[in-house]
Amino acid sequence: MTLSKSTQINNSKSAQKTEYTSIKNHKMIIDGQLVDSHGLDRIQIECPATKEIFATVPRGNNQDVNFAVKAASDAFRKWSLVEPRERGKLLLRIADAIENEIENLANIIAQETGNAIRTQARPEAKLVADIFRYFGGLGGELKGETIPLGENFLSYTRREPIGVVGAIIPWNAPVLLGALKIAPALCAGNTIVMKAAEDAPLGILRIAEICQNFIPKGVVNLITGFGEECGTPLIEHPHVRKISFTGSTGVGKLIMQAASERIVPVSLELGGKSPSIVYPDANEDWAVEGVMAAMRFTRQSQSCTAGSRLFLHEKIFDSFLEKLISKLKNLKIGDPLDEANDIGSLINRKQYSRVLNYIQEGMEHPSSELICGGMPPENGEMSKGYFTLPTIFSNTTNEWRLAKEEIFGPVLTAISWKDEENVIKMANDSHYGLAGYIWTHDIGKGLKTAHSLEAGWVQVNQGLGQMPGQSYGGVKQSGIGREFSLNGMLESFTQTKNVTVSLSTPS
Ligand code: ADP
Repeated sequence: MTLSKSTQINNSKSAQKTEYTSIKNHKMIIDGQLVDSHGLDRIQIECPATKEIFATVPRGNNQDVNFAVKAASDAFRKWSLVEPRERGKLLLRIADAIENEIENLANIIAQETGNAIRTQARPEAKLVADIFRYFGGLGGELKGETIPLGENFLSYTRREPIGVVGAIIPWNAPVLLGALKIAPALCAGNTIVMKAAEDAPLGILRIAEICQNFIPKGVVNLITGFGEECGTPLIEHPHVRKISFTGSTGVGKLIMQAASERIVPVSLELGGKSPSIVYPDANEDWAVEGVMAAMRFTRQSQSCTAGSRLFLHEKIFDSFLEKLISKLKNLKIGDPLDEANDIGSLINRKQYSRVLNYIQEGMEHPSSELICGGMPPENGEMSKGYFTLPTIFSNTTNEWRLAKEEIFGPVLTAISWKDEENVIKMANDSHYGLAGYIWTHDIGKGLKTAHSLEAGWVQVNQGLGQMPGQSYGGVKQSGIGREFSLNGMLESFTQTKNVTVSLSTPS
């Protein structure tokens, strides 16, 4: 197969293009106030598509964490006593306010993450409104149960809030992932201190700011800063009663250790190296498009659920890849604020060099063949930001580093299979277990394979993103706990109390 520089590099400026804003100094939100950090230091926020600094945020520290956790602790009791349906109504009002600000949020997300506004940033902003609306309707579902101990007892359970939630989020879908913790935590009656990712704190800051218009001060606190400087003090804080983390598996392990010191419940949504298995009967355009969506190419594949190991049946291996490469060529890479573009840039220099190192290694690997993409151009428009090309290596096994490690960039490895049992074995041969994708017209076969995959979420014949209501999370080193759903809220943000009453006490 010949090497093809896939995808179009869009150098032209579309008429439908939002202009970049000038540098703005933001504050964090603690106890209902916009504040600087105690240290007064700032972090510069670079737009990854231009490599220009366009904003700064406070560089939070230990003292800021103490201040925020105190505010959340002080606000907790009163908030927990607001009737659950009332809390839900406030979330619905927040949802409406977010909906009125979709364009502003989409712009912020595109600028800070490099994600293309049409394909990613705007849909993310819309989904955030949906998430607040979904959890806003669940106040009445914080139900307990009665236990049948006989006529002389009344034994029942209550779903109670846990207290102050310490939440840490990453940069890849910062507003969505932040909302997924704020909305259920608040619905269940908790208060929250969230640490934004240092690379993309602005969208979630705006959400936290919107929240302040509807909820009491101290209920939602948003701190900005580096992981070790304010993430660590947050997870180690004695008054944080629950930790919810989304990020890398490496940091997830540290979080779990910290949680074990105080025996606090922890939810972890970590990395993935998800398989996409194509059966020979699915050598068709819809499956090719599904594989592209599953690989999250239009998010530069910076997604934990990216279907980054493509298992193609040997009978269709070459022809499926030909179709895939030809469709990738139609995607436009460039300025994330330009409506015409499908693909934006990677998040930062560190991630850019990391992804390029993997590509270099793939190009030097004796048994792999680069069939699409490769190293991005060193000059021209693409070199102005951290832009990369959708890249595919073929004829590889499941046994090399590119097929084992989470790259978090648009590097797909295509692996050939002929025996179903063997492909399931290869798919499961990973320490991750977040997502999986299966493509076939034979629905019975597809479902049996879905049941055999060691993953928290398997999609058959589609490669979509998460929807509110779906319990989402991983198995193995992809994490523990579920979010995104009613069950996720009950499991992750409430604790059960049993109350047992004797009905035979003498009067
Ligand atoms: P990524 O490599 O994708 O940035 P990380 O897991 O390093 O993923 O980061 C996810 C979030 O975890 C970020 O908000 C980051 O600041 C935070 N973080 C990183 N290291 C630590 C740490 N040692 N303790 C607490 N939080 C951390």
